[in-house]
Amino acid sequence: MVSVSKKRRREEEKTTDEEMMTKKIKLEDNISIAANDHHVNIESSRKRSRSSEDSATVEERNSQKRRRIEAESLPEHMLTNYKFHWGLGRGSFGKVFLASTQMKKERVAVKVIRKTPKEEQKDMIQKEARILKVTSGSPFLCHGYAAFQTNQYAFLVMEYAGGGSLSNLLSIKHHLKKRHIIFYSAELICGLQYLHSLGIIHRDLKPGNILLTCEGHMKIADFGVAAEGVFDDNTIGEKTGTSWYMAPEMLANKKYNAAIDWWSFGIILSEMATGRSPFEDDSCKHDVKSSILTEKPVFPEWMSATLQDLLQKLLKKRPHKRLGVNGNIREHPLYKNINWEDVERQRIPPPIRLEDNHPESTTANLPFLKCNTTKDSDDTILKCFTYLNPSW
Ligand code: ADP
Ligand code: MG
Repeated sequence: MVSVSKKRRREEEKTTDEEMMTKKIKLEDNISIAANDHHVNIESSRKRSRSSEDSATVEERNSQKRRRIEAESLPEHMLTNYKFHWGLGRGSFGKVFLASTQMKKERVAVKVIRKTPKEEQKDMIQKEARILKVTSGSPFLCHGYAAFQTNQYAFLVMEYAGGGSLSNLLSIKHHLKKRHIIFYSAELICGLQYLHSLGIIHRDLKPGNILLTCEGHMKIADFGVAAEGVFDDNTIGEKTGTSWYMAPEMLANKKYNAAIDWWSFGIILSEMATGRSPFEDDSCKHDVKSSILTEKPVFPEWMSATLQDLLQKLLKKRPHKRLGVNGNIREHPLYKNINWEDVERQRIPPPIRLEDNHPESTTANLPFLKCNTTKDSDDTILKCFTYLNPSW
């Protein structure tokens, strides 16, 4: 069995950002990463009291309250209050660093995105922050803690998944045992269904965007190109994601819905089982894109009939026929011994425990750590910040 060539996979994993090139360019210095809840609350309470009280007094009281909130919260989210250690990974849009908070000493992952004068980049960062704010509803989604920005960079603070990505795991293991596949895919199903229940489709589901905790649980991450407000039969356009994992309807520039994520899930499952995509053509007669559009998926003979059946149902070219949007995937025979309540509550012990074997290191020498010096002194003042997680 020929494995997915690492180089080819890496090339294929690059997210296409065609649509990003076409939109207009504009930079607002003070981009607002997400709505500041505290300020919104203050604003609405201000409106309510305006009729009965003297507005100057109310304003004075509110500005005192705002100052108090900022005094309490800001230090936690100032760049200088994070100690950056080393890089964890790089994606198409940002670089992710391991960091710890000076006060809590808690380890976090911080996605650092260099701001560009593109309006659509601002939208993307705001959207990712918004989604990270609601992911706390599922243990199988990467949780966000905070988002803030300096003049040059946007920072998304997230929980740290110390087990690396599924992509790393597959490059070490090549392919996984059936019971491992059942465990990982069951956790992914829970995360994906939760995301879809919020009207969010991921649009870039691939092993590089699926992380593992040190305990070995799954975490879907990277909501940079996700789409919001896609419920039930709603469909949207816009081609984005990674062609290797892209559903045929998206490749064909048709309208699509959450079924695209179930397609990508099918490809990932197949890679977990065989180390390769079922549309990878060894003879190189077709490129993957045309195989996805026209060919039937090919599975090795040794693959169990149950798994083949599941993959056939996930890799239906016609999205409305695809398992995930059509039928209950949890009832598929592959999961017949699975207690979904136990999966949801992370009560099933992960098959592989991943050691967090990053070496201890001193503070990283990173360019953005210097931005509180002369050239970019405004960077220490956080014009906008938000708590993604109130308990943080
Ligand atoms: P991009 O949006 O640029 O694609 P990602 O969010 O996919 O960025 O992150 C890039 C890489 O950084 C991931 O493949 C992973 O290796 C690492 N990474 C991202 N988030 C975390 C996290 N929360 N914990 C640990 N590593 C992470
Ligand atoms: Mg990514």
